[in-house]
Amino acid sequence: MERIAVLTSGGDSPGMNAAIRAAVRTGIDRGLSVFGVYRGFDGLIDGCLELLSSAGVSNIIQRGGTILHSARSPRFFDPAPREQAARTLADKGIEGLLVVGGDGSFRGANCLHQEHGVQVVGVPATIDNDIWGSDYTIGYDTAVNTALSAIDKIKDTAAAHDRLFLVEVMGRDAGFIALEVGVGSGAEEILIPETRTDLEALSGLIEGRREKGRTSSLVVVAEGDEEGNAYQIATKLEALSGLESHVTVLGHVQRGGAPTSADRVLATKLGWAAVEALIDGAAPCMVGEEDHEVTRHPLADSWTRKKSLDPLLVSLANPGRL
Ligand code: ADP
Repeated sequence: MERIAVLTSGGDSPGMNAAIRAAVRTGIDRGLSVFGVYRGFDGLIDGCLELLSSAGVSNIIQRGGTILHSARSPRFFDPAPREQAARTLADKGIEGLLVVGGDGSFRGANCLHQEHGVQVVGVPATIDNDIWGSDYTIGYDTAVNTALSAIDKIKDTAAAHDRLFLVEVMGRDAGFIALEVGVGSGAEEILIPETRTDLEALSGLIEGRREKGRTSSLVVVAEGDEEGNAYQIATKLEALSGLESHVTVLGHVQRGGAPTSADRVLATKLGWAAVEALIDGAAPCMVGEEDHEVTRHPLADSWTRKKSLDPLLVSLANPGRL
């Protein structure tokens, strides 16, 4: 293998740049030419790629977003554009492709492998942390810390005005971010899709706090909670018990910002590991870090297996326990 390429795909996450940097420099160190594909699978279909140099990826380790840009590519769900994407690689003599993204991107990569024999390695990068095969995904730690610092500020104003705040955090259909920031911020209640949300019990808990003179409360809501988003839950709470609440949706602020040290280091390890996996002929696979060891798993495990929340954290998050 002499030529490889790297792309970032799906939702962006802080630390993607650190992964690109590590992959480019590892590849060059191992005697490979490393191409960067712009705008994910869309760029691969359209032939938007260029050779990257070591200097070209300097000074990006600390930057959020992705210098290669990311995209969701509806075209890539169809075989004909995927064939075009494979041709882009073949025309340049590129045999290996690193896909930095979430499990959707890995599904796309798997199609390229099955239909056209492209050697693909997935690098798990999503703020949601919902990929089996790596204890943490690139960007999760930064998103959690961004959400936490926002919630600390919201708690100040909630306390000053005796308010109930519902703060919605991202996470798609998983509660990793909500659980961690809920515990870390000392929230009164954490509503996540993995556990049953009981709004009557929640109303009772908040009323009980008020009777004891604790007039401000914070509830962290995962965007994928089965009772709905934070606005829908606020409406239901008011209808149920007359409780008025203020809603803050943190939204895309959680995707941005400089990656934390943990994310830079994880991305550096996994960018390196992905190139080594290609060289070893281990593709198709995804790389991850589990119990401080770099690991390789079949790509399909990332969407067929489900990562569990930390059961201790779930139990500590029960109402009234802390
Ligand atoms: P993420 O990688 O963050 O999970 P998405 O689920 O949006 O993000 O997937 C990113 C892109 O991967 C999609 O826009 C599409 O181009 C490609 N993709 C996702 N699922 C498939 C699939 N089943 N077959 C082919 N391509 C897919």
